[in-house]
Amino acid sequence: MNANLYALLRDHFAEHGEQPCILHPGGAVIHYDDLDATSARIAHVLVASGCEKGDRVAAQVDKCWQALALYLACLRAGLVYLPLNTGYQKSELTYFFGDAEPRVIVCSMEKLATIGALRPEATVLTLSGDEGTLLDLARDAPETFDSVVAAPDDLAAIIYTSGTTGRAKGAMLTHRNLASNALTLVDAWGFTRGDVLLHALPLYHVHGLFVACHCALLSGSRILWLSKFDAADVTKLLPHASVMMGVPTFYSRLLAEPGFNEDACRSVRLFISGSAPLLPETFNEFRSRSGHAILERYGMSETGMNTSNPLRGERICGSVGPPLPGVAVRVANSEGRACLPGAIGGIEVKGPNVFAGYWRMPDKTRDEFTADGFFKTGDLGELLDNGYVKIVGRATDLIITGGLNVYPKEIEERIDALPGIAESAVIGVPDPDFGEAVTAVVVAKAGQAPSEADLIAALKAEIANFKVPKRVHFVDELPRNAMGKVEKNTLRQRYSAS
Ligand code: AMP
Repeated sequence: MNANLYALLRDHFAEHGEQPCILHPGGAVIHYDDLDATSARIAHVLVASGCEKGDRVAAQVDKCWQALALYLACLRAGLVYLPLNTGYQKSELTYFFGDAEPRVIVCSMEKLATIGALRPEATVLTLSGDEGTLLDLARDAPETFDSVVAAPDDLAAIIYTSGTTGRAKGAMLTHRNLASNALTLVDAWGFTRGDVLLHALPLYHVHGLFVACHCALLSGSRILWLSKFDAADVTKLLPHASVMMGVPTFYSRLLAEPGFNEDACRSVRLFISGSAPLLPETFNEFRSRSGHAILERYGMSETGMNTSNPLRGERICGSVGPPLPGVAVRVANSEGRACLPGAIGGIEVKGPNVFAGYWRMPDKTRDEFTADGFFKTGDLGELLDNGYVKIVGRATDLIITGGLNVYPKEIEERIDALPGIAESAVIGVPDPDFGEAVTAVVVAKAGQAPSEADLIAALKAEIANFKVPKRVHFVDELPRNAMGKVEKNTLRQRYSAS
């Protein structure tokens, strides 16, 4: 049997190939057959570019349906898809390309010169919607392609997640990981061919690419395709959707939209939230404005989805629900023993959804698994009496801003390297829009302090915008404990109030 995820997806939509798959508001409709043919053509281009099974294909492209076809083409050709945040800058890309050694890199047309120079060994193709060399080459390629036979443990994708040390790790996801999670979610959330999924998430993250697209493709439903989230547009389009997936920021922005009300949600059966904690205020206000209890779920790049509040049954505000079928979740204390309900410990997971390890980091991989095969997520949580999981914090200082992860260490190193800076600490402070806002606390060298605006501008030239601090506070010294560690909790308290 072929464990290629594309074979599974195709089995579910092939019979209805003439059905619409992607709906652009007020514009083109892409049918399942179109997606199938375009992904076949792209698969031929990748193979003709010299890609062999297991080779990596990196993509830093703006959201467009053709980018989804590129991902599917990689699955079909047995290649490993490496989606990259469109905000990543030169230094970040240099690291990813050096680490993953992609054979092909696909980028937007305006990035061609920069990216071509970063990795001369790779074939660099362009994709900007309908345009670019990838589709130019694909136009004459055959519209059928036999999906490569994949074993369940063959790699399908590598997703880079920031490390606590600032060095990003590539989470290796297999066809089995992605397929098992997709099947589980379609069932858990009741996806059917009648659904219309409002898709305003980015396509370079597990949430928008795997969770959202797999649920739709596997159930043969339609995707209302938005290039980005805009609360006013979404409010107008919701009456055409039956399901919406989003990060908490989407929901708080909808609440700030005057036209958002129960009527706008009349055709929606399910709102799903994840990637960052959903504040109780948002959950409650959303329920009173729309009549819907948002279904919160919990997952991560390394594992796909682990827990979910139920489709039918009680959705508990502040909880991410019970483990999904087939996924074992436990909360362990520092000695690795399971905690009793109510006690806080590290959340650990095991199941067919859990990744195969970090790319070329066997030691790091070993460190993150227990002797009995559970993955240590780094999240802190507790089990409630009813078996639901509650996340209470993070073992590390990870900041989640608008659903995207920022590890302070990486930003601190960048700030410290700037002229006039002695040292810095980067923290997340509560923010009504982003969940958390990246905030820097900086000690300047005597008489050399740059302005807040100059420091932010310098960082913007080096790293993706979402990682750049929204505020910079200058102080004479950082608070430290007896061991010399910066007391970030003190800083969080101080600047949360300000
Ligand atoms: P990522 O790998 O970018 O998907 O980030 C995964 C991390 O996001 C998890 O380890 C959690 O810390 C956090 N996360 C995801 N979903 C939730 C949620 N519903 N509530 C709280 N934190 C979440």
